[in-house]
Amino acid sequence: MKECLRCKKMITDNTVRDYCDVCYEVYEKFFDKIRSYLSDNPLATAFEVAEYTGVDHKIIKGFVKEGRLIEVETESVNVNCKRCGTLILSKYHEYCPKCEKTLFKELNGLKGYFIRSEKAKMHHKKISR
Ligand SMILES: [Zn+2]
Ligand SMILES: [Zn+2]
Repeated sequence: MKECLRCKKMITDNTVRDYCDVCYEVYEKFFDKIRSYLSDNPLATAFEVAEYTGVDHKIIKGFVKEGRLIEVETESVNVNCKRCGTLILSKYHEYCPKCEKTLFKELNGLKGYFIRSEKAKMHHKKISR
């Protein structure tokens, strides 16, 4: 018998996995998310991966420890967020995930404003006719 690496439940020795069935499934789902994010954003930092996939930092670190994810040190990581200065970004992002969300909201808010004013103008024309 050996321990599940995650929940410490005892599992049989004859499995190649280091997790019990429950944890294995949970972890595979996390890993799938990370893998698909990384295929779109190669060399993303652990911070970006965690923020965008919603997978906990500790879980990502765990994958690195197990050798399923590899942390590479290149000059394309540790880029400053253009808005708040966070220093854990890859060159693929100009803003940290938090700022990106805020900016996106602001942009959408602005769009809504233009749509509203356009409608108001059309409405006004109709009346004056
Ligand atoms: Zn488990
Ligand atoms: Zn930021």
